[in-house]
Amino acid sequence: MKEITAGKNLIAALESAGYEAYYVGGCVRDLLRGLEPADIDVTTGATPEEMKEVFADLRYFETGIKHGTVTVLDEAGVPFEITTFRTEGTYSDNRHPDSVSFVRDLREDLQRRDFTINAIAMDIRGGIHDPFDGAADIEAGIIRTVGEADERFGEDALRIMRAMRFAAVLGDHAKAFAIDPATEASMFRNKELLLNVSAERIFTEFKKLVTGVHAGDAVRQYVDILGVVIPEMLPMKGFEQRNPYHNYDVLEHCVRAMEAIKTTPNNEVYMKMAALFHDIGKPDMFFIGNDGIGHMYGHPLKGEEMVREIMGRLKADRFTSDRVTQLVRYHDLLFREDEKLIKKWLNKFGEEVLLEILHIKWADNIATGNMSRQLDDMFRHVEEMIGRIVEAEECFSLKDLAVDGRDIMETDGAPEGPAIGEILQSLLNEVIDGSLPNEREAIMARAEELTRGR
Ligand code: ATP
Ligand code: MG
Repeated sequence: MKEITAGKNLIAALESAGYEAYYVGGCVRDLLRGLEPADIDVTTGATPEEMKEVFADLRYFETGIKHGTVTVLDEAGVPFEITTFRTEGTYSDNRHPDSVSFVRDLREDLQRRDFTINAIAMDIRGGIHDPFDGAADIEAGIIRTVGEADERFGEDALRIMRAMRFAAVLGDHAKAFAIDPATEASMFRNKELLLNVSAERIFTEFKKLVTGVHAGDAVRQYVDILGVVIPEMLPMKGFEQRNPYHNYDVLEHCVRAMEAIKTTPNNEVYMKMAALFHDIGKPDMFFIGNDGIGHMYGHPLKGEEMVREIMGRLKADRFTSDRVTQLVRYHDLLFREDEKLIKKWLNKFGEEVLLEILHIKWADNIATGNMSRQLDDMFRHVEEMIGRIVEAEECFSLKDLAVDGRDIMETDGAPEGPAIGEILQSLLNEVIDGSLPNEREAIMARAEELTRGR
């Protein structure tokens, strides 16, 4: 089995001073699944005051002192969060304990944790402390609350969102983790409690959910729960498109797009969200034409408006909100292997966003369930074309043009203000069209013509 070495000295120091201390939570869960643990959490019987003494020679920050969390930098300067064993008092608002108190008993600390798979502690010799049989649940792939589900979701309803997130994220391609039936029934029963949880906490879990290997199945199974916080998703479910291009209802189509989309670690979160929401505007815009076929003209614009609202309600950060909204707005671009067209779009969107729109559109087509071989080839060729144009540094934006605004202002009878920008834009269009070379002299001659003609 892999072991955790990070933070070992800190735990050893606490032990030498006579306190218990353990790795706990996600890192132990991941280790037992045979994975490299990501962020490391440590829990101890020492109070923050006592830790301060033990770590007198190290850099030490009181990051969440009220909850018993401190951050200590080890010898290498790597930060570790260490939290005092604690229990939580009653919850009157479905999200915060009315009080927390520090305790000396590990079991009490593990008991306040959300799921059995997250309630396992491990000492630095590899000894496992697992009073709620979390290791067996990891082995079987089961997500189950510690204690009675109704009570635990009533204390903090975010746990409902976390259960869906773990269902989406845990497991491998072959096998997902399943939510235990009693826990799952309680999630459905208590779903409205999610309305009492802060948008920021929900969005943090939602971001993790969409990136999970089993995100698609989590959305399929739990859309009625997600619909409490994103009610716009509910009409997508079972919405038949009555259109020969589509084999699936709107939700299934969007889920498949989320599953199919090609992403990078940098854009994964917002690309998956954009794919999931790309047709969210369809149910609102649906009508049956004289041809007897379902149409949804204008759905990208409607979708843009709806996504902007969802992102606002979930208090998404500005960048994510803007990008998801933009991708939904433009997901329906009609790509062709046409160099002039692609250059124009490179000018409008820039390379990064244009490639992202291409991948949304590509996933959109895969997710209809009947994409032709030719269409697949076309997307690949356009992707290569974008690469070639960018590589060859062929002119496609104002900053690449061989003249700038100052040059235009120096022409005879030069206009002022916004007219300069308009002239530059026409010059750029002609360069993209190939009717004008991107050379200073030629462009200046043309600029004078354009100025005279105004
Ligand atoms: P990740 O791998 O995403 O970090 P994690 O399980 O470590 O997953 P965190 O949010 O980092 O999740 O929380 C650390 C630990 O704290 C959890 O494993 C769990 O034991 C406990 N925990 C976190 N949030 C809650 C909660 N809302 N209710 C109860 N226990 C929680
Ligand atoms: Mg963690």
